[in-house]
Amino acid sequence: MGDVNRENQGRTSMSTPLVDGLTVSEAAGDDVKKTSRDQREALPGEPICVVCGRYGEYICDQTDSDICSLECKQTLLGRAADTHLPVGHPLPKRLAATDECFYVRDSESPLTSDQTELLRRKLEIHVKGDSVPDPILSFSSCNLPEKLLHNIQTLGYDMPTPIQMQGIAAALTGKSLLASADTGSGKTASFLVPVVSRCATFRHGNLSKSKKPLAMVLTPTRELCIQVEEQAKLLGKGLPFKTALVIGGDAMPRQLYRIQQGVELIVGTPGRLIDLLAKHDIELDDIMILVLDEVDCMLQQGFRDQVMQIFRALSQPQVLMYSATMSQEVEKMASSMAKDLIFVSIGQPNRPSKAVKQLAIWVESKQKKQKLFDILMSKQHFLPPSIVYVGSRIGADLLSNAITVTTGLKALSIHGEKSMKERREIMKSFLVGEVPLVVATGVLGRGVDLLGVRQVIVFDMPNCIKEYVHQIGRASRMGEDGTSIVFVNEENRNLFPDLVEVLKSSGAVIPRELVNSRYVKRSFPMGKGQRKRKYGS
Ligand code: AMP
Repeated sequence: MGDVNRENQGRTSMSTPLVDGLTVSEAAGDDVKKTSRDQREALPGEPICVVCGRYGEYICDQTDSDICSLECKQTLLGRAADTHLPVGHPLPKRLAATDECFYVRDSESPLTSDQTELLRRKLEIHVKGDSVPDPILSFSSCNLPEKLLHNIQTLGYDMPTPIQMQGIAAALTGKSLLASADTGSGKTASFLVPVVSRCATFRHGNLSKSKKPLAMVLTPTRELCIQVEEQAKLLGKGLPFKTALVIGGDAMPRQLYRIQQGVELIVGTPGRLIDLLAKHDIELDDIMILVLDEVDCMLQQGFRDQVMQIFRALSQPQVLMYSATMSQEVEKMASSMAKDLIFVSIGQPNRPSKAVKQLAIWVESKQKKQKLFDILMSKQHFLPPSIVYVGSRIGADLLSNAITVTTGLKALSIHGEKSMKERREIMKSFLVGEVPLVVATGVLGRGVDLLGVRQVIVFDMPNCIKEYVHQIGRASRMGEDGTSIVFVNEENRNLFPDLVEVLKSSGAVIPRELVNSRYVKRSFPMGKGQRKRKYGS
C-alpha cells in the first residue's frame, strides 16, 4: 500500500520508518503524534481515528484507514493480525457510523495496584467500600460519549481533579456514592459527567419514544440549582440531554411544560419539586440517578423529610451524594438510602480549603460595622470582588446601604426574599465586575461558584461551623489563593471549640480572646505573648 495523501485535508500517510518498526512520512512538517492522548478531538466534518475516535490526522499506509497516532496504527495492525487478515485487507465490518463515533475508547493501560495506591496517597484520595474502581487519569479513558468529551474540553477541563478522578470512576460503575471534597474542587462536574454520560447513552441506545426524566439533582438553594443546570447544559450540548430547572421564584407552569416536553435531567430544590409533584402528574419511575448536592444540608432537619419524600417516589435509583462537610449522622443516613455504598473523600473532610488564608478578628458587636468600613476603605485589606456574609435578610439590606453611604462603594444585598429575577441580575452585575461587593445571607454560602471572588468577610458568624467552612470556601476555586476575614466575639461562644480547630488546622492565628476563652478546651500550643491561664479561670 503506497502513501496516500488525501486531497484538501493536508493529511499524511504513515510510511517512513520511525519507531518500533512503524512508518511515517512527515510531509506536513509536524511531529507525528505518538499516542492517542497526544491527539486532539476531531472537529465536525474531520476524519476520525478508527481506533480511538480522535482526529484521524493520518492515513495508515497499510490499511488505508484513518488513524490519529502511531499508537493507534499499532493497535489497528495488531487487530488485523488477530483476525488473520492480510495486511491491507479491509477490517471486518464496524458498527454503524453513529455508534462508532459515539464513544471514545479507552486507550490507557490500567494502573497496577501499587500505582493506584501511590496515586491515591499523593492526591489524598481516601476510599471505602467493596470493589472500588481505580481513579481515572484522563476524561478520555472512561468510555464517555464523544460529544461529552468534546464539551469537557471546550470547558477547558484538561485533567480531572482528584474528586473527579475517583468520583467519576465510582459513579460510572452504577454504584451509589458518598463523597466529600473541598469547596471549589470540581465536585459539580464529578457528578454531572456520569449523569450526562448515563442519560445520553440510555437515550442513544433506547428505541422507546418515552421522554420521562432519567436523573434528578437536588440542591438546597436556588442559586446552586441555577449553576448546576447551567453546567449540565454545557456538558450535555449536542447530546440527547435536556434539562429542567425546578426552583421557587420562577413560574411553575413553564417548569411543568418543559418537563412535559421531555427532559433527561431535573435540577431543583426539594420544596418546589414536592409542590410540583403534589399538583401535577409527573412520572419519575425512569429516574436512574439521584444526586444530593450539599448532602449534609439536605439530610438535616428542614430538608430531610422533603428529600426522603422525593426519594421514596423513585424506584431505587443510584444515589450520588456530595458535600464539603460530612458527619457520622450523614454517613449513617446515606448508608440507609443506598446499599453497597462507595465512600470517597479527598483531603480532610470538614476542613476549609487550604487555599483560603483565614484571618479571625475579635470585634465586639457594636464595633463590627466600623471595623468593616475600615477594611473596605483600606487598599491593603479590601480585595474586591468580595462577599460579606450576614445572618439575616434585613441585616443584608441595611448593611449594604450603610456600606454605600459610608464608603461610597457600590454594594448590593442578596437574600431569599428577593425575587429570582433580582437575584440573577445582582449576581450578573457582581460577576461582571459592575458591583465590587455583595452582602449576602446563607443563600450564597453553599456550592455556588463565584468565579473571581477572592475575599470573603464573615460579618456574622453562622450557626454552625460547617456553614462557615462553606462560606469561606467561596474565596477560592480550583485551589487558587483567597482570603477570608471573620469577626468573632463572645456571642459566638458555642462555636469557639470548632472555630479554634478549623483555624488551627489551617495554621491561622487564633485571636488572644479566643485562646483565653473559658469556652475553649486548651489543646493547642500557646503563641508568644499568650499567657497561660488556668482553664476556666
Ligand atoms: P465546583 O467545585 O464544582 O464548584 O467547581 C469549581 C470550578 O472549577 C468551576 O468553575 C468549574 O468550572 C471548574 N472545574 C471543574 N472541573 C475542572 C477541571 N477538571 N479542570 C479545570 N476546571 C474545572
